Amino acid sequence: MISNGKHIVLMAPPGGGKGTQAQILRDSLNIPHLSTGEMLRAAGRAGTEVGLQAKALIDKGCFVPDEMIISIISERLDQDDCKEGFILDGFPRTLPQAKALDTLLFEKGLRLDHVIEIQVPEDLIIQRIIGRFSCADCGAMYHDTFKPTKTFGVCDSCGGTHMIRRQDDNWVTVVSRLKTYNSITTPVLPYYEYQGLLTTIDGVGEIDVISEKLKKIILK
Ligand code: AMP
Repeated sequence: MISNGKHIVLMAPPGGGKGTQAQILRDSLNIPHLSTGEMLRAAGRAGTEVGLQAKALIDKGCFVPDEMIISIISERLDQDDCKEGFILDGFPRTLPQAKALDTLLFEKGLRLDHVIEIQVPEDLIIQRIIGRFSCADCGAMYHDTFKPTKTFGVCDSCGGTHMIRRQDDNWVTVVSRLKTYNSITTPVLPYYEYQGLLTTIDGVGEIDVISEKLKKIILK
């Protein structure tokens, strides 16, 4: 079994900051950020059959089927850049996905080192989701109030000027995504707690302060 402390799952409700934190950790730990939401959106943009099926579900705030997401993750974990570690963002979201991940990793001679839950109260989540946008060119994430670009409409990271908002980041869909998180995803937490892998942190506060907390857990 390979373990160098960098096989990480970030868990948080939608808008909990896992995408932002995963991008920071990716850059500082030099391991890939595997966002299942982003993989599905990319497949949707590419117009593949799976991507179009997924898009219809995502836009309604529904989960895609476990088998679909497990097969996407299995292929992604086979790529060479995952050997030294990875940050999973948005997977697993159901108990069958968590069990399938254990099996996949076991078959690949890997195992998880950390599962970190980022806790954020629901009123803040809604504010965060409704104001967020990202750069279409490099994926850097921003927020109208909490993290605007330095120059209006221009990405701080790559200078791109095409900013996008997710179609599922609207009031109705957010409320339904939160309900699903509470009923289907939170039951995954005790599964990892039982394995001694789970750490919970408070996700309210400055982005840098939260990433320091995460690094402390991962690099201790
Ligand atoms: P995210 O970018 O993580 O917020 O994911 C966006 C959407 O993609 C979710 O609301 C789901 O519709 C879908 N999705 C992403 N990851 C998963 C997963 N592990 N299981 C089921 N659906 C997923």
